[in-house]
Amino acid sequence: MTPVVVVSRRGAERVRAGHPWVYRADVVSADAAPGDLVRVEGDRGRPIGWALWSSTSKIALRVVATTGEVDEATIWRQRIERAVGYRASLGIDASACRLVHGESDGLPGLIVDRYGDCLVVQALCQGADRRLPVFVGVLVEVTGARGIVARNDLKVRRLEGLPEAVEVVFGEVPEAVQVTEGPIRYAVDLRHGQKTGLFLDQRENHEAAARYGRGRALDAFTYVGGFALRLAAVCDSVDAWDSSASAVAAAGRHAAANGLGNVVVREANAFDELREREVAGERFDTIVLDPPAFAKNRAAVPRAVAGYKEINLRALKLLTVGGHLITCSCSAHVDEALLLAIVEAAAADARATVTLVEKRMQARDHPVLVGMSETHYLKCLVLRRIA
Ligand code: SAH
Repeated sequence: MTPVVVVSRRGAERVRAGHPWVYRADVVSADAAPGDLVRVEGDRGRPIGWALWSSTSKIALRVVATTGEVDEATIWRQRIERAVGYRASLGIDASACRLVHGESDGLPGLIVDRYGDCLVVQALCQGADRRLPVFVGVLVEVTGARGIVARNDLKVRRLEGLPEAVEVVFGEVPEAVQVTEGPIRYAVDLRHGQKTGLFLDQRENHEAAARYGRGRALDAFTYVGGFALRLAAVCDSVDAWDSSASAVAAAGRHAAANGLGNVVVREANAFDELREREVAGERFDTIVLDPPAFAKNRAAVPRAVAGYKEINLRALKLLTVGGHLITCSCSAHVDEALLLAIVEAAAADARATVTLVEKRMQARDHPVLVGMSETHYLKCLVLRRIA
């Protein structure tokens, strides 16, 4: 018997409008086991589509298809092949990129990143977790990967009642995997790094930043050097800060390995450091702000806004006239319009006249699903101080 979940009129309308999630409050009745592929019905048995069922999360259903039948024997392979083929078509100048971006690739709750000949997978919901062995088998065939790590040490898995763990699920994965991003070489720890090892979603913005960089540069939240190392080639000097000791150590190793002697990496709290530099009267010609997500949920938005305002205000005060500020937010709850409003307020307070030169977002291998605004999570604005 096919498991069936009946949803409310509001839930059905949401799916019809293109959003692939149905919240538990919109579930009328469910006869399904954790992670089942279920038939979704509206009132009087009206067919809505097919979805993965979660028995615990607020996100009860993640839609797989809204038309036709779903054959699990073929659909996952087709979708993985399509996702991998799409990345191959992008002509990405890097050996690390995202291959599967969850809902945006029709594979709800599944993340797959390529690092050279190794992959990192993450299962964010019960349905993806249950099928992980199937996904891994298909990925090995489609990509020829030599080793696959499951970075399932994600807090969101708690909401799904799933354990948090990191394990090699196929082949062998070296302690440090060598990859390139444009001209920069990285040694990536796939078991312990933030995200899956690198911030692959910023790859195209690293490249863009290098088109604006000059003079004295600052990368205030550098992680393992993403922006700083690209800026080093076009700037006189780059100050790179991060509050994580392991990130700072890795950024320093990468600067040395790439022969970039003009990068100075420091362990620092960017909030304090920005203020101190301002008091000291220092100036920078290029500044990058790429902080962690200050708003992890809606309730945290007001505090997050204050945080973004603070760092953008300080940065604009430190910026020379003619210099560029590249400012990012990866909080899905702070949308582009809100980030622009924050920048506007910061510029007014800093008495800086600023022009908006570019509106950017996450790299193309992390596509936005139209209808699901949460997938447009990364915003990157390029601003130029003109007075
Ligand atoms: N720009 C990087 C990614 C940055 S992610 C890239 O493109 O690869 C955000 C980073 O900010 C993390 O490395 C985190 O350790 C660091 N961080 C968090 N709070 C911080 C703070 N108060 N000061 C400086 N760094 C901080």
